[in-house]
Amino acid sequence: MNLLPVIFRCPPSLLLGHPRAAWATSAARALRYPDLMALYLVATPIGNLDDITLRALRILREVPLIAAEDTRTARRLLQHYGITTPVTSYHEQNKRMKLPFLLARLREGDVALMSEAGTPGINDPGYELVVAAATAGVPVVPVPGPSAPVAALIVSGLPTDRFVYEGFLPRRRSERQRRLAALASEPRTLVFLEAPHRLQETLEDLELSFGNRPLAVCRELTKRHEEVFRGDIASARAHFREPRGEFVLVVAGAPPAPATELVAHAIDQGLAAGLPATRLAAAVAAATGTSRRAVYRQILERTRATSPSAGDVSPAHKRSRDPTEREHVCR
Ligand code: SAM
Repeated sequence: MNLLPVIFRCPPSLLLGHPRAAWATSAARALRYPDLMALYLVATPIGNLDDITLRALRILREVPLIAAEDTRTARRLLQHYGITTPVTSYHEQNKRMKLPFLLARLREGDVALMSEAGTPGINDPGYELVVAAATAGVPVVPVPGPSAPVAALIVSGLPTDRFVYEGFLPRRRSERQRRLAALASEPRTLVFLEAPHRLQETLEDLELSFGNRPLAVCRELTKRHEEVFRGDIASARAHFREPRGEFVLVVAGAPPAPATELVAHAIDQGLAAGLPATRLAAAVAAATGTSRRAVYRQILERTRATSPSAGDVSPAHKRSRDPTEREHVCR
């Protein structure tokens, strides 16, 4: 049977799961990109050395070169799995300087990129190399696996359906507070990385900017002293007096504005625009999920409060005296 058409259509990620995966991917790639090798972004453990995929191990074993953020950590991991692939450094300080070298190597063979721990490119070097490789037409292939922010999010007990990843907050307090002020009304769950020596200050700033919200402080995930503290910001400040280890903070998004505030705001806007009470009550009720009768009552109260003379200054209030209209509103 001629497998080539099948291989050609099949995504590499599916083929890689097959026992003859290496052969199949090479064949597919050779057909698609005759002159190009691939840059593999390989996720590695964030603590527990068992947290590495079979595919990651195979790629690290088969590529002719590994670019590693920390060559010592990389060699320890590789040694643990009996992998002898040559390693070159690729870190924050040399990440731009090293691009021509790595692109030249990518013309001759595959390169795997790994960070010190977790997923390359997530607060670790990778972005510039991905852009350079993609621009040069080199296929960039993800080899997914551990990542501290995602591990923390899923154990946090906070909503995971929509979240915002903020990485490290600025070190300077004024900048950090500005950043937090910009995030204060963000309704999605927020994920931050933090160093132990800045944890207390950051928790303090979080409480100042966000109020005492629910949060999870995830420490040393997948390691011996793994700890997931679920509570609120104030109790976390009390709990982590002398923080040690690596931390991810997962903070609840801003709570929705209380319905009463929303309704009051919408009524004020409608009255200012001169909307008749019935129409305003219907619109505000629909927009806020409040009953029309309750909104209508509030409209009356607000117009009386602002024009106590007879309560008939605004068109809304004049119209509210119409019995037909009142009946319509209260139905
Ligand atoms: N690229 C990495 C990843 O995908 O996990 C993140 C790299 S970032 C430079 C390192 C930060 O991630 C640490 O300072 C800490 O905030 C967090 N981190 C890494 N490993 C962790 C762990 N085992 N438990 C908790 N946080 C961790």
